[in-house]
Amino acid sequence: MKYYSSHISRLIEVLGKLPGIGPKSAQRLAFYIVNMPEDQVEYLSGVIREAKATVCHCKICYSTTDQEVCQICDNPFRNQKQIMVVENSRDLVAYEKTEKYDGVYHVLHGAISPMLAIGPDDIKLRELMQRLQGEVEEVIIATNSSLEGETTAMYISKLLKPTGIKVSRIASGIPVGGDLEYIDEITLLRALEGRVTL
Ligand code: ZN
Repeated sequence: MKYYSSHISRLIEVLGKLPGIGPKSAQRLAFYIVNMPEDQVEYLSGVIREAKATVCHCKICYSTTDQEVCQICDNPFRNQKQIMVVENSRDLVAYEKTEKYDGVYHVLHGAISPMLAIGPDDIKLRELMQRLQGEVEEVIIATNSSLEGETTAMYISKLLKPTGIKVSRIASGIPVGGDLEYIDEITLLRALEGRVTL
């Protein structure tokens, strides 16, 4: 039995595919949107389209930005010789919020997962290796402590061994399977300060 018009159903379906949005939230959002004044709906869809059209990846660290080179890579006061490797831009933001890290980042856009058939070539690892041809003193591996994050960390440390560059791993203390973005800043800082050389 169909409860809603096909357009509402479609909107609920599309919204329900967004991360963290269950069927009930999708339904609530869909009704909220169709009851919004037309100009606000126009504005919302315009903002979404504009973000999609302008947001890209920094050509150095692959973080999400709307410039060719992001503000962090472009900042002369950041230590360009210290690279923190994170799984995604949200983890980068989590570390930026601590305001204590002054190195730069490298965003992998994923983690190695044999189960999901995500291999080293599917994330920005080759790009990381290319960056290391410049002057780099330390690579801090800050992938999540999930199985995928640990697998990726191990893979990177092996890959970097022959380069002689110092490789460290953020300390545990972050719960296993813990998503970096949900962890408070103090825990993040402790993990960074307590990092161990691999
Ligand atoms: Zn960048």
